[in-house]
Amino acid sequence: MAILRILEFPDPRLRKKAVPVEAVDDSLRQLIDDMFETMYEAPGIGLAATQVDVHRRLLIADVSQEKNEPHVLINPEILGQEGSEVTEEGCLSVPGYYEEIERAERIKVRYLDRDGNEQESEFEGLLAVCVQHEVDHLQGRLFIDYLSEVKRQRIRKRLAKDRRQHQESAAIL
Ligand code: ZN
Repeated sequence: MAILRILEFPDPRLRKKAVPVEAVDDSLRQLIDDMFETMYEAPGIGLAATQVDVHRRLLIADVSQEKNEPHVLINPEILGQEGSEVTEEGCLSVPGYYEEIERAERIKVRYLDRDGNEQESEFEGLLAVCVQHEVDHLQGRLFIDYLSEVKRQRIRKRLAKDRRQHQESAAIL
């Protein structure tokens, strides 16, 4: 297993649209294992392939406290949604930012599991929010796209400044 590098906003590769996975094989399962290791280590509760620069329709999630309820969704398709709820979201690709975002409370999704079998599941609560957030990533969309342009610019500048400071301190060492 390996820890993968997570792309960070405003990296243009986060804007790429993922294409469908064609074969659920061992190399895909290797990627899935690496994504879980990366997500648990970060730590995060969801990760889309787009975030690790693989532009295939694949996402993983685990919203459990014990990190023992892994979900793998390949070629996910949201078939229906119900209700709405507001959740404070963050994103491994936009580190340090949390914003309240409104999404559907329950969703019905069709996808392939890690064995390539077709599944249809209903998700609710945090898991539903997480899957919607990750499906957005696969479409090149970030949670901060729901915010105003002014707010997004502020986040972009702040992250660029944080990165410069890291580079400066790295040079000193
Ligand atoms: Zn995210």
